[in-house]
Amino acid sequence: MSAALQIKDLRKEYRRGVPVLQGISLEIAPRGVTAIIGPSGTGKSTLIRCINRLVEPTSGSILFEGRDLTRLNARELRLARRQIGMVFQEYNLVERLTVMENLLTGRLGYVSAFNAWLRRYPPADIERAFALLDEVGLGGFARQRADSLSGGQRQRVGIARAIMQEPRLLLADEPTSSLDPKTSVEIMDLLRDAAARHGIPVLVNMHDVDLARRFADRIIGMSGGQVVFDGPPAQLSDDRLREIYGGEGWLQ
Ligand code: ADP
Ligand code: MG
Repeated sequence: MSAALQIKDLRKEYRRGVPVLQGISLEIAPRGVTAIIGPSGTGKSTLIRCINRLVEPTSGSILFEGRDLTRLNARELRLARRQIGMVFQEYNLVERLTVMENLLTGRLGYVSAFNAWLRRYPPADIERAFALLDEVGLGGFARQRADSLSGGQRQRVGIARAIMQEPRLLLADEPTSSLDPKTSVEIMDLLRDAAARHGIPVLVNMHDVDLARRFADRIIGMSGGQVVFDGPPAQLSDDRLREIYGGEGWLQ
């Protein structure tokens, strides 16, 4: 099966001569959950953000649907981005809008600027939004404002909004880091199941190793801007964790 995403020798320097990503090469399969773990500051968010070019890569290539994302012009990038859903740690909802309106923003890449300005969406989009709200356990919440929701509910909206885009890849940057442990498990469950149901591969950054082990099909360990582990959760031994995180004392 061909990869959904092929990253080749990706490098990023925010400041010249200070590499944050030191030549990352990865292939992401068209299904399943791939978790990226690693110490804070090691480049996990930078890697995720290079894929949708919220961060500009310094060099290397990122092949998605047969095209190199690093070489797209503004218009091509806009089209590519609607195929890449993103879920954020802080949800990134429009707080004063309703849940339904937030979901529909996932369709903005598809409607004309004029209709977007009038907030006019095709009925099919609205039906899809209602179906997705049910799917993420928020049936009946369509008219509630985002700012009235709990963190877990907000992230459910975040996931539904990303899937509204009909993406071919879902990126998530620490989607549970603002949530309590029980809600984190519920959100990871939802993310995994929703992605599987819609046939979308997920690439997710997380700092919770246990959660990554529990939900990922594949774990990528990063350290110092490089991949130092890549394998199924069962192969992530304490020795490998020490390689990723360094030090000894924190492992019991
Ligand atoms: P992680 O997500 O693993 O914690 P990041 O990708 O956020 O790591 O950061 C990796 C390194 O890049 C850190 O040293 C961070 O300070 C630096 N960095 C991240 N974003 C920027 C930026 N916009 N400008 C300059 N340096 C940055
Ligand atoms: Mg980060």
